[in-house]
Amino acid sequence: MTLTIPLGIGTEAPELPSTVRLGPRLRSGPRYAHGLYDNETSALYQVGEREVFVIARLAGHGTAQRIAADYLRRFRKELTPQGWAQIIQLLQDRALLASDTNAETNAHRRAEVCATNLRVREGSRTLFSAHWDIGHPHQVMATLAPRLGWLFSMLALVIIGGGGAMMVTWLAVFAPILASEVTRLWTATPVAGVVGIVIIWVSVAVHELSHGIAHVRCGGQVTAVGLKWRFPLLAAYCTTADVKVLTTHRRQVIVALAGVVGSFVVLLPNAVLFLFPEGSFGRGIGVIAISLGTVTTLVNLVPVFAMDGYKALNAALGFWELRRDTFLYARTFVTRGIGKELRSRFPRTTTLWCRIYLIFLIILAVATIAVAVALLSSQVGVAGALGIIGCPVAVLIISGAIGARIVRRRAEELTRPEHGLAPIRWSGASASRPLDPSTVHSKEREDD
Ligand SMILES: [Zn+2]
Repeated sequence: MTLTIPLGIGTEAPELPSTVRLGPRLRSGPRYAHGLYDNETSALYQVGEREVFVIARLAGHGTAQRIAADYLRRFRKELTPQGWAQIIQLLQDRALLASDTNAETNAHRRAEVCATNLRVREGSRTLFSAHWDIGHPHQVMATLAPRLGWLFSMLALVIIGGGGAMMVTWLAVFAPILASEVTRLWTATPVAGVVGIVIIWVSVAVHELSHGIAHVRCGGQVTAVGLKWRFPLLAAYCTTADVKVLTTHRRQVIVALAGVVGSFVVLLPNAVLFLFPEGSFGRGIGVIAISLGTVTTLVNLVPVFAMDGYKALNAALGFWELRRDTFLYARTFVTRGIGKELRSRFPRTTTLWCRIYLIFLIILAVATIAVAVALLSSQVGVAGALGIIGCPVAVLIISGAIGARIVRRRAEELTRPEHGLAPIRWSGASASRPLDPSTVHSKEREDD
C-alpha cells in the first residue's frame, strides 16, 4: 500500500485552540460521531469519526505526514490531500485553528460565533417566550459543586432513590384518594394549594441547579443559568451545552439524572405533612407538593420527549439522537423494505436499539390511547372517546410536523453566512471524499 502525502507535508500540522474539547464516540445513524465543543464560543459541532481522528491530532506536535500515516493505519484508507484540505478549511471557517495566520479575522469570526450562539440561545423576547440569564453561572456552580458533593455520594443517592421509589408506589396505591383530596382542596384551603405550587417551583429550581452542579463535577461548563418565561410558566433553567463532550457516557447519564435527585431532595421532606389530618392546611400543602411534584418529575423521566429521561437514555446507549435515528430507521424500513441495504446502513447494535425503541414508542402510544379511551368511554361511549382523542392526536401530529419545519428553517436562517457561524451540525462524511460544511448529518445519510 502506498501512502499519498497530503498537502502541507513537511510542515507542522495546524494547532487547535486550547479551548476546544472532543467528546466520546456516539452512535449517529449509519455512522459514529463525536461532539466538538469550544469553551470560548460555546459552539457545539457534530463531527464524523474520521474527521475527529485527524482533528484530535492537531495538537501542534505532529506533521501532516504523521497524521496521514496514523489515519492509514487506523482506517486502512488514505487521507487524500482533498480530505486533509477540507478538514483544515472547515476548522478555519469556524475559527477553530489557533495557528490561523490572520489573527484579526480569526478573532472576528470567534466573536461572530459567540454572538450567534447567544442569539440562538436567547431567541427573541415575546409575550409568550423569553429568557433572562443571571450572573456568571459557571463560577457559581464551581463554587457550589465541592460544597454539595455529598449530594452525589452513593449513600445519598440510595436514600433519595429509595425515598423517591417509595413515594411513587405510595402515590400509585392512594391515587384515587389523593385525586379527590386535590379537587376538594382548591375550595377548602386554596392558600395551601398555592404554597404547594411554590414548593414545586422551588423543586424545579433546585432540579436545574443540580444539573449544573453535576455538570461542573463531571468536567463540563455551565453556559447559562436564569429564568425562562414560557406562557403561562416562569421557571429556572440551566444550560449545559457541552454535555456531549463530557469524557464518558456515564458522566452524561449522571448530568441528565442529577435534576431528578435535586427535585426529590425538595419534595421528599414534604411527606411528613401527611401526618396532619385530612382537610388541614399542612396536609393540603403536602398533597399538592407531593402528588403534583412527583407526577411532574415522573413525566420528566419518560424517555420520549427531549427531557431528562430521554437524555439519560441517549447517553446510556451512546447515541447522539436516538429518536432521530429511530425515525430515520423506520422511514428507511418503510420506503425501502427490509433488505441487505438497510442492514448495511446501520451498525448492528444501532439497529437493535432503534428497533427496541421503536417497539417501545408504539407500545407506549397504544397504551396511552387505550387508557384514555377506557376512561372516556364510560362517559361518552367508545365512538365518542375515539373522536375526542383522535382530534387532539391529529392536531398534535400536524402541529408537531409544522413546528419541526419552522424550527429547521429558523436554524437554517441563523446558520447562513450573513448571520455568522451558528452551532450547526457538522458534516459527518468521510474525510476521504468531499465534505459540504452546511450539510446536516441526517440528510446526508439519507442521500448516501
Ligand atoms: Zn432536568
